[in-house]
Amino acid sequence: MSAVNRPRAAVVVTGSELLTGAILDRNGPWLSRELTGLGFEVAHLQLVGDRPDDLVRALDRALVDGCELIVTSGGLGPTADDLTAEVVAAFADAPLELDEAMYERIAAILAGFAARTGFGGPALDAANRKQAMVPRGAVALDPVGTAPGLVVPRPGGPLVVVLPGPPRELQGMWPAALAAAPVVDLLAGVPAAEARSLRYFGLPESEIAATLREIGADRDLSGVEVTTCLRRSELEVDLRPRPGAGDVAAALHAELALRHARHLVSADGASTDELLATALRERGWTVATGESCTGGMLAARLVDLAGSSDYVAGGVVAYSNSAKTGLLGVPAEMIATHGAVSPEVARALADGARERFGADVGVGITGVAGPGGGSEAKPVGYVCFCVTTADGQVLARDPLLPGGRTDIRERSTDVGMHLLLRAARGSQPA
Ligand code: ATP
Ligand code: MG
Repeated sequence: MSAVNRPRAAVVVTGSELLTGAILDRNGPWLSRELTGLGFEVAHLQLVGDRPDDLVRALDRALVDGCELIVTSGGLGPTADDLTAEVVAAFADAPLELDEAMYERIAAILAGFAARTGFGGPALDAANRKQAMVPRGAVALDPVGTAPGLVVPRPGGPLVVVLPGPPRELQGMWPAALAAAPVVDLLAGVPAAEARSLRYFGLPESEIAATLREIGADRDLSGVEVTTCLRRSELEVDLRPRPGAGDVAAALHAELALRHARHLVSADGASTDELLATALRERGWTVATGESCTGGMLAARLVDLAGSSDYVAGGVVAYSNSAKTGLLGVPAEMIATHGAVSPEVARALADGARERFGADVGVGITGVAGPGGGSEAKPVGYVCFCVTTADGQVLARDPLLPGGRTDIRERSTDVGMHLLLRAARGSQPA
């Protein structure tokens, strides 16, 4: 098999506020996902401050590493620390020139701004001029905010796509960037990604590693890049074939699905949340939650998807014992006898939520999230789950979950989602 490498791309995110930790980067990972989906191999994602020298070095590195495309984020605004357009123009050896049409477009946007805020005059005109400067030979992309984006071809490559920093503006401009002629030309030579993914729940990473070793012993898998990642308590396995290795990836995908079928959640990229929504809709079921240690996180997760009012009835955060008893009818004697964190109480929370909301399926969660409150019998991380349905299914679990308070609460939410999915799919507990 002759697998050639994919064309490479680089992402350069600018902003000193990202390096101090004041805000989290939302553009780099987003762009990396997009570029990977388009079929590029992302060589690196660099985060640099608003310092021209650092930005120059980041661009140079992408050039040295053979990237055909660089996408930058941020530094397109009107202030002195916004210097991406200047630096990229120098990198592409293209002088900046005033784009009259863009100047007028920005002026119209800024006139609205001036009318609303009362800020205007020479300061605004300077901002307007700065943002309308376009490197010669570049394509200017219409502003989503006030700053236009740029597509700047460097003679001999790479192509540089320059996007604004605010995530809403960057994502809003992306379709126009992809439609710009130089990008269209470049994409025509990029082989389709053909990525495949598998999601497992309750399967350790070592199992996949062992299976891959076994399969790899009598088959050449070098044309397929396999990445595994733990996300939301699931093991996600992504298979990315190099050009020409699509069949090898397809066969590997089928085999991995078959060998670990018991723990397989999806083999087509669908998320647990989407699968649960579909399963509940197909059954015509509504769901209600009775949550203690997750404090409503499961209910919040259930309403994440648009249209969730079709199948979410409601939920109660029953944190105190009196709330468990008063709001969800958990008998006080049950709590006294078994403790608030017990399989009995988890079941009573599920039944109580289901009955109070008139729902078809109820889920109860009660656990010791820590860091205090653990005992020898019920240590920190001990969480009791129960899902009950109007048609008599009962799924109960009481695992010891690892990690700190945040991990335990997040994992509990994940386990709750998976138990609901099992119940809605009507499959027997593993
Ligand atoms: P502006 O005209 O708003 O200045 P800009 O293109 O110059 O646009 P930046 O100055 O880099 O963008 O960033 C403006 C704001 O956008 C930042 O203060 C931050 O709130 C947000 N932002 C920028 N980059 C990112 C990022 N990578 N992730 C999340 N938010 C970002
Ligand atoms: Mg700025």
